[in-house]
This record gives sequence, C-alpha cells and structure tokens, in this order.
Amino acid sequence: MTLFGYSGHILKVDLSTRSTSRLPTTDYADRFIGGRGLAAKLFWDMVPPRTKAFDPDNCLICATGPVAGFNGFAGSRWQVCGKSVHGEGEAFSYGNLGGKWGVALKYAGYDALVVQGQAEKPVYLFIADGKVQLKDAGHLWGKTTFDTSDTLKAECGRGASVLTIGPAAENRVSFATIFAEEEASGSGGLGAVMGAKNLKAVVVAGNQKPRAAQPDRLRDLASQVRKIVKIAPYDRKLWEVNGKSKLHICYGCGLGCGRHVYPGEKGRKFKSFCQATEVYFGPGPLEGKPRTVAHLLGTRLCDGYGLDTAVLCGMIKWIAACYKDNLMTEKQTGLMLSKIGTREFLEDLIHKMINQQGFAKYLAGGTIQAAEHLGGEAKERIGDYVGTLNSENKDYDPRLMPMTALIYATEPRRAIQQLHDPHCYVRRWLEWAKGEGEPSFSSDYFRRVVEKRYGSAAAADLTTIEGKAQAAIKIQEKGYVKESLILCDLSWMEMWQTYFADNLDQPPLESQIYTAITGHETDEEGMDRIGSRLFNMQRAVQIIQGWPGRQGDRLVDYYHHQPLKQGELFWNPDCLVPGKEGEITDVTGRVLDKDDFEKMKSDFYQLRGWDVESGLPTRAVLEDLDLKDVAKGLALHGLVK
Ligand code: SF4
Repeated sequence: MTLFGYSGHILKVDLSTRSTSRLPTTDYADRFIGGRGLAAKLFWDMVPPRTKAFDPDNCLICATGPVAGFNGFAGSRWQVCGKSVHGEGEAFSYGNLGGKWGVALKYAGYDALVVQGQAEKPVYLFIADGKVQLKDAGHLWGKTTFDTSDTLKAECGRGASVLTIGPAAENRVSFATIFAEEEASGSGGLGAVMGAKNLKAVVVAGNQKPRAAQPDRLRDLASQVRKIVKIAPYDRKLWEVNGKSKLHICYGCGLGCGRHVYPGEKGRKFKSFCQATEVYFGPGPLEGKPRTVAHLLGTRLCDGYGLDTAVLCGMIKWIAACYKDNLMTEKQTGLMLSKIGTREFLEDLIHKMINQQGFAKYLAGGTIQAAEHLGGEAKERIGDYVGTLNSENKDYDPRLMPMTALIYATEPRRAIQQLHDPHCYVRRWLEWAKGEGEPSFSSDYFRRVVEKRYGSAAAADLTTIEGKAQAAIKIQEKGYVKESLILCDLSWMEMWQTYFADNLDQPPLESQIYTAITGHETDEEGMDRIGSRLFNMQRAVQIIQGWPGRQGDRLVDYYHHQPLKQGELFWNPDCLVPGKEGEITDVTGRVLDKDDFEKMKSDFYQLRGWDVESGLPTRAVLEDLDLKDVAKGLALHGLVK
C-alpha cells in the first residue's frame, strides 16, 4: 500500500551496539502526523522514564513531516527532539530547522531518524539511499560546524547534506545547537545531547521523492497559497545586510520570507535572519542604522561554535549591564569585560564557556545559573534581559499578553511558533492604535478576530485574565499541527496576520494541504483535535520524564513582581493593548499577579479535561484522544488521574 506524503520508514541507530533497524512510518503517521508529534511518540516508546539527558538511553530524534518535499508551502522544515539539560532541570525539548537537511533525510528513504546509545569514540553517520554507515569522526572533533560541513562534503560528495555540531556541543554547553545545510540552526540544547553521544555529524543523500495522494488538488492549493503570499507579502528587506546580501529561500519552501545570505570569511555564505542577527552588535536597523557584515559577527561565531543566539543575546546584555554598574568585575569573572563590543571579548567569552573555565562554566549553564552563582543585585538584573527559565531572550511578555503565560509555563522552552500567534494580531492592532496601520484593524476588528480564532471575545481584553486559558489552548492546538506538518512559522504567521485576519470567513488551508498530501480527509475541527492529541502526547512525555505537573508549570518569577517598563519590549515600547471594550490601554507598570496566574492555570487544566489540583492528564481525555496506550503507560507510574 502506498503511504502518500511519507518515505515509509523510520531509521533507528544504536550507537552503543553499532546496530540499525527500521520501523514502518504507518505505525505512527495517522495519529501523530510527523515532526513534533511523531518525535514525541517515538520518544515515549523508546526512552525509559526519568532518563537523564546525557544518559545513552536518551534518544535524539530528527523528524520530518508530510509536507516536506512538496514545494510551495514553506513546509520542508524538520524538528530535532530529545531530553535536554537546557534550562533548570531536564525536559523533553525541541528545535525547528529549515534548510535542506530534513528533506534530504526523506529523499534518503527515512521520515525520521532516532539515535540512541553512545559511541565509544567520535563517529558520524552516513545515510545514502536507505543504506547506513557509521564512520570515524576523530578528524572532525573540535572543528567548527562550517569546517566540519566542508570536510564532509568533500568526503561524501557535494550533493550530500550535512547536519553537525560544533565545539560547544562536544563540551556539553547547555545551550549548544545543532547546525545543518543552508545555515539552519536548531536550539533547545539538543546539540549537547548529540555531543554526549559522540555523534559529530549525520550526512544524508538520496533521490526518493514522496508522492501526494491528490496531486491536482495540491497544485491548486499551491497556487492559492502563492496568491495569498502576493496579497500578504513578507518584508523582503527586513534582514538585508547593507548592500552585501541577497534574498535566500530555503530549499523546498517555494515562498520565502526576508531571509538573506551574505558572503563572509573564507568565501562562505552566512545567514542574516530574525533574532539571530541581534546577538551581539545589534540591534542594527531597529535603531535606524543599516545592518553590516560586522554587526553579524556574533551570528557567525554562534553558528560556527554551535551556540544558541537566543540565549547568548540576553547573556551579553546582562554581563554588559552588570559590568557598567560594578556588579561584576574582570577579576571576579576572568572575562575581558573592558572589551565588550569587540571581537576579542566575544571570542574569549565563547572559548571560556566551551572550556568551562572559571565563571564561564556557570555561563555555560545559562544566564540564570550564572546569576544564581553571583547572587545579589546581579541576580536581580536578569529580569531585564531574560524571558524564560531557559535563559532565552525576552519578547512576547505575559504581563502584556496574559495568554502567553500559559504557553511559557507548559512548554520546556520558548515556544516561538505559538507566541507569534497573539503577537501578530496585537502588532497589527498596535499600528491602528498609533494611527500607522490600516484603519480596518481597529479594536472592534481585533475582537472579531480573537473571537473567531481563540473562541472567546473576552480574550480580546488584554487587561484581564478572562478567556485567556481558552485562547492559549486554541493557540497550542494550531501550533502543534504546524510543528508536525511542518509549516514554517515565518511564512504562515504573515499569512495569518494579514490575509486570514482580513478574510475571516475563508477556510484555513492547513487541513486541505494535509488531506491533499496524505489522502486523509479532515477539516479545521479535525486538525484541532489532532493538535490536542499532539499536545497531550508531549505532556505525557514530560510527565513521565519528571515534569512535576502543576508545580512545574511556572514562569521566571520576576513577571510576578517586576513592573513592566516603558521601552522594555522592542516591538511595543509604549506597552499598549486593547483593553475593556477595546479601549487603547497603557499597561506600563503591570505585573502578572500570582493568584491570577494560578487561576488561569486552573481554568486551563479544566478546559483541557485534566486534573486541576495536580495538572496531570486524565485517563478519560487521553482515551478520547485515541491515546489509550499512553494513558496505560502513565497509569503504571500513578501519573494519570
Ligand atoms: S519562509 Fe523563510 S525561513 Fe521559512 S522555509 Fe521559507 S525561506 Fe525558510
């Protein structure tokens, strides 16, 4: 039987025994689609409860979705998942990557790759047209991601696609990334997991293209998406580099965004893209200056050594502020603090973190860990620079948009694909409120959009907590579908923000794309149900791996006591939101009251059908979502109500 949209196999590699096996994708595809959903279920099936991140039993899972390999939907993205040390404690985490590697894995014959065990010495995997080889990587250990990629392309063929880690991951820096073809970088701390497995790289090559169940319908949908993108075009100059860069569209995207590439050291091409551009010399164009190649040094170094820019960005700002106010000294830290702003400072900082030297060893655990070590006022200051328990940067603040509190609290890391959802409507409303945008996106219209999208008009008043639990759930259902198909948030966020927000009665296209590719008939309601299943699946993985339910659903504490300041949020410095009856309301000075937060959590658990006291899923809900096997597994450990 043809499995449309998939290659049909999942590859499992055990590095300890140097053995491989194949699983049929059919065992997973119907219930878990691909990407995050597929990875969460594979993790559930293969990893024992409470496994440690660096334990050989932990699995590193790379998973594509059914849309990968079909051009025109910004859908050739892929996920890397596994238990990570990122942040406080350990949790199942994830990264979402673009570029060519994910599709190349599918073309090589596999929808997903599961790596378990630990190699005795550094190795790399070479997967070509279904065949798998484990090769020595001694000559690659210690090299940057760029140098490793060049060496492996020379060894395996220019057409091969390379996924690799840098020295930060080899040395288990908690926010180490993995890096793949076309400058795709995956966060969530999973680079360190790959490093702990002694797996330096995975090279893939092949030509096995997937087939769609309804190719004519899919062509028609691609043409509809193209028309929408013309109506709602991305700002193509957003990440331009001062006359040096060109637009670059990820392989298999077919739509594009503002992603640029520019030439840099050794004649290589580097990316200029999104938050990564602001890591060190930024904020560049946001302050009205053109972005230059020099501005992007931090991005290049982070990608080369394999560090998460979303963590390093806030960390450097925190270090600079503490140094300026004499809360941190060169003697105390061993860092070249008087040289902040130079290449020398950044290279020294990275080198010391990688080698876990002196104070930098605490920084390698993330800004929060380093601030805990220093204590006092330096610790208090992190509230200005850090937005999550994983030390990631601040942007979509729960004091401004209360529904995001539940997203932050129930996710192991900053779930940017979900946070963009409310942000994109508030941003559009903000333009109207300041008289800059289209007159149509008024408070009234914002309420209509929120009612339709988030299931409650009350959620449109951002000065209250009413309707926010329902809104968070709606955002999560859609977010999990997006992360499993997988559709790129950059393109689809823009489409939802403009085209679908202006055409409220248009049926969304995600369910139709899924049906045309896989042949499974479904609609928006059906996709929401799948989203709910996938969210519950990930929750079950978290719970069995040690997430303490309700107690674990929390935020960085300062949101509860540090008042929101003017200028604190780069995209909404005046802290304006639609308030009661749509009134333009300034929420400067607001904190997220702890009791309100706990009330929102209770509403959330209740609406999800979970146990309100413990935050654990219930057997009834899991069974209703076709997760009877998962309910049974949790029951064995007393973790279901
Ligand atoms: S929208 Fe941009 S980031 Fe997303 S897949 Fe396309 S080119 Fe890549």
